[in-house]
Amino acid sequence: MARYTDASCRLCRREGEKLYLKGERCTTNKCSVARRGYAPGQHGQNKKKLSEYGLQLREKQKAKRYYGVLESQFRKYFDMAVKKKGITGENLLQILELRLDNVVYRMGLAVSRPEARQLVRHGHFSVNGKRVNIPSYLVKLGDVIAVNEKSKSSEKMKDNKEHAAGKPTPQWLEYDAEEMSAKIVALPSREDIDLPLKESLIVELYSK
Ligand code: SF4
Repeated sequence: MARYTDASCRLCRREGEKLYLKGERCTTNKCSVARRGYAPGQHGQNKKKLSEYGLQLREKQKAKRYYGVLESQFRKYFDMAVKKKGITGENLLQILELRLDNVVYRMGLAVSRPEARQLVRHGHFSVNGKRVNIPSYLVKLGDVIAVNEKSKSSEKMKDNKEHAAGKPTPQWLEYDAEEMSAKIVALPSREDIDLPLKESLIVELYSK
């Protein structure tokens, strides 16, 4: 499956804000945004005012980078969001939140979304008792996501279980720390999604 191969920190610097793609490092003074808060490249320090289109484009790129989604899939999510009842921008964020890799990250069982994606791909999780190794798998209301029995004893999972213990889980997830599982008890609303995204700009961009 296609994925970003660019250095994660360059993506944050390009957006001018932390996208939290590297776990612990993101909260230390080693973070590249903290050290070099300007865009990468030769002209990175030349700040110019963005046009309306530029603002819309940057917002879309930021959302894609937060969730680690490439253009074609993002566009597919947008089309799904348009067909759903409700506000398109909020529908789009809800769909992104329901990706299995994001749910694993929200459970606290990965230090970043990229790590969650890798853990899912390596087959450490199941949905309703069935092993699922597709990071983009969309979970539904009532689904139960759990660490597979064999994976629970791995050092990585033990570390991540400890990490999860200190992290609040969103209210749409009912997390069982002992079982290392979570049930989707509601669909995430806009208020539940703590990302500084202006989803209306993305809708405007795709509606042109
Ligand atoms: Fe982004 Fe984290 Fe790198 Fe900072 S350390 S630039 S937040 S990925």
